[in-house]
Amino acid sequence: MNPNYEMVIGLEVHAQVKCSSKLFSATSVDFGAAPNTHVNPIDLGMPGVLPVLNKAAVDAGIKLGLAIGARVNRISVFARKNYFYPDLPKGYQISQFELPIVEHGHLDIDLAEGDAKRIGITRMHLEEDAGKSVHDLGSDDQSHVDLNRAGVPLMEIVSEPDLRTSEEAGAYLRKLRAVLQFIDVSSADMEKGQMRCDANVSVRRKGDEKLGTRCEIKNLNSVRNVMRAIEHEAERQIDVIENGGAIDQETRLYDAQQNETRVLRSKEDAMDYRYFPDPDLLPLKLTEERIEALKEEMPELPDDIKARFVEKYSLSAYDAGVLTMTRMAADFFEKTLNLNTDGMPQNDPKLCANWMMVELFGALNKAGRELGESPVSPEQLGQLVAMITEDVISGKIAKQVFADMLETGQDPDKIVEEKGLQQVTDTGEIEKIIHQILAENADNVTKYKEGKHQVFGFFVGQVMKATQGKANPSMVNELLKKALD
Ligand code: ADP
Ligand code: MG
Repeated sequence: MNPNYEMVIGLEVHAQVKCSSKLFSATSVDFGAAPNTHVNPIDLGMPGVLPVLNKAAVDAGIKLGLAIGARVNRISVFARKNYFYPDLPKGYQISQFELPIVEHGHLDIDLAEGDAKRIGITRMHLEEDAGKSVHDLGSDDQSHVDLNRAGVPLMEIVSEPDLRTSEEAGAYLRKLRAVLQFIDVSSADMEKGQMRCDANVSVRRKGDEKLGTRCEIKNLNSVRNVMRAIEHEAERQIDVIENGGAIDQETRLYDAQQNETRVLRSKEDAMDYRYFPDPDLLPLKLTEERIEALKEEMPELPDDIKARFVEKYSLSAYDAGVLTMTRMAADFFEKTLNLNTDGMPQNDPKLCANWMMVELFGALNKAGRELGESPVSPEQLGQLVAMITEDVISGKIAKQVFADMLETGQDPDKIVEEKGLQQVTDTGEIEKIIHQILAENADNVTKYKEGKHQVFGFFVGQVMKATQGKANPSMVNELLKKALD
């Protein structure tokens, strides 16, 4: 990117609330049902129906507000956002406008080298999803509408324009996803559409105070695509400006195949939606007791766990950040440590972290699997690490054992025993091999005695080879020195 410019990014994230029914009706939100089977008159906006607010969705909103250090408004208001679209038969969406349930929060994102940056969250409001237009059922002249999604509860989380690079945007989305999952208010899986992101992007010359004109990019369905779209859009805007043009505020669409953004429509303003308080819904009033009760229920958050991992297990901020990206990773890691009754690790935390992040995550990644599908349990990985620290096997042999574990799901001690992979730590046995090798390589022994100490490595290699890598390396070193000197 042109070094004279910087990007300014603000993200709007829609997260589907994890609950069983719609925001204003008792219809199921189960995914994958036959089209238009999870719809009732309220979702359709039939005349005479009355919406009833979903309590669980409100609780989810309060929890998120608490998790991001925000103000939870004791009074908030549902408003109608009016627009016409085939997938919105009511002609309006119930959302929150002037008085959202949550305002003024923040999220600390993890950057490279363990640095953190605080990103402001302007607001979070509850709203209902629209239905879905389906254009790809085979005929060019027909489109279909599926209203199963109409009325599904969403949290719209709007960030301040505090993000400056696509990496920061990616880190923000990963952190937000982790928080949503930790407090269990959303599955927040972007691939499954439970978390969707619109990116607002502008550029300005470095040093400028004033924000540039932004474009909003829609249709982003993975963290990777958000990052690519932002980079692409920033380049496009810089090009326009450098060629003497001006940026029009517009809504653009990201085409992942072509890696380009295209105009969807010029940006509509809030007034185009003719927002007004929904006359069918009273203002939402929250009691102190309700908020206090939810505070009590709040679990440990990713940042808290990260700080605990750094403090208690002496992990680097980076490692602790990676291991707390999901609740499952954090739990998995602590299980590998084999904590005793005082909560102190019996296993080397740094070694466990390395094995989990490098070997396990590497293998899962390659196989396209999630941690939840790991063929190796945390207890088994912990056992493997213990076998290394207790000198039962070397780190090198451990990789061989681990490959077996991935394939068969067997316990490491079984594999080591069956294949006879235990380290050779019997002094007599190692000495016997050393003497044999020295006898077979008299010329190199002479070289060593003449002061060419480089051949020492050759001898170590020979001993390891003779023992199929099973000799304890530090014993080999020690006994070889003794024999040669
Ligand atoms: P709208 O409702 O029209 O989308 P908002 O005021 O809610 O507008 O802002 C949407 C998003 O745009 C927010 O995340 C905000 O941080 C971001 N944003 C606002 N101004 C800029 C700008 N100049 N450049 C980049 N992002 C911006
Ligand atoms: Mg918007």
